[in-house]
Amino acid sequence: MQIVRTIAEFKVLRSDWADQNLTVSLVPTMGALHAGHLSLLGPARMADRLVVSIFVNPTQFGPNEDLLHYPRPLEQDLSLLERNGVDAVFLPAASEIYPAGYRTLVAVDELSSRLCGVSRPSHFRGVATVVLKLFNIIQPQWAVFGQKDAQQTVILRRMVQDLNLDVEVIVQPIVREIDGLALSSRNQYLNVAERKAATILFRSLEFAQQALTQGESKTDVLVSGVRQLIGSEPLARLDYAEIVNAADLSPVEQVGDNALLALAVFIGKTRLIDNAFLGRNK
Ligand code: AMP
Repeated sequence: MQIVRTIAEFKVLRSDWADQNLTVSLVPTMGALHAGHLSLLGPARMADRLVVSIFVNPTQFGPNEDLLHYPRPLEQDLSLLERNGVDAVFLPAASEIYPAGYRTLVAVDELSSRLCGVSRPSHFRGVATVVLKLFNIIQPQWAVFGQKDAQQTVILRRMVQDLNLDVEVIVQPIVREIDGLALSSRNQYLNVAERKAATILFRSLEFAQQALTQGESKTDVLVSGVRQLIGSEPLARLDYAEIVNAADLSPVEQVGDNALLALAVFIGKTRLIDNAFLGRNK
């Protein structure tokens, strides 16, 4: 497995692969890898060469967020990727991606200000910027992302379409712990009591799915049930719970095909997100 830290070095490798007509897939991550990340490698293996990037992207963190504390178990990550058949890891320093004088940001309008964008107004600008840069550097035919970050996938698909990028975005289902908690690098911030309380996100998704099965399809009724449930967990504080159209994140009044329930909940100081399709996903 090759570890590449500079853009110049990656470009040499990439043109070598292009000379051999090899296809390339990319799995972008911020490291602190878990089984959710590893699940993305499956479809990525359809390419001749599989690249994983590890980059804790400063532009997607807000001023009071966890950039400095974000876990960085690099040795562990690299050995996990090596054992999972990754061909190259792109591991740039922040100054390599954003050198002095860097000024260009990518804004995917409107979609970026919904849901997580309300409490994290600059987050998706940072995500779109770094992902576009990674696409330009790695030049993958396929890029694989997790449904865990549902809004991110909608925004990136939009960016790919709007900017005529020659990359196919593939989205993989959410990987969960046995009790339903979605795997996340941020779960390590939780203490024992918080870890237990964190199941409230999955329980809320299940509650809504069950209420829908029992015939309740009004969004405001479902959302108020979810709010109530989350309110009953003393360690939890709701950031948002919304039911939207999964394709374009627009609000829906009644759950029909393609509705998505998206949640962000603080458990203590840790902000967790989760989501589930309600109704049939097209
Ligand atoms: P991150 O390192 O948190 O930026 O995540 C990198 C990629 O892994 C993103 O596409 C995430 O959506 C995906 N991912 C994170 N957690 C999970 C999970 N529990 N199941 C599936 N994919 C995930």
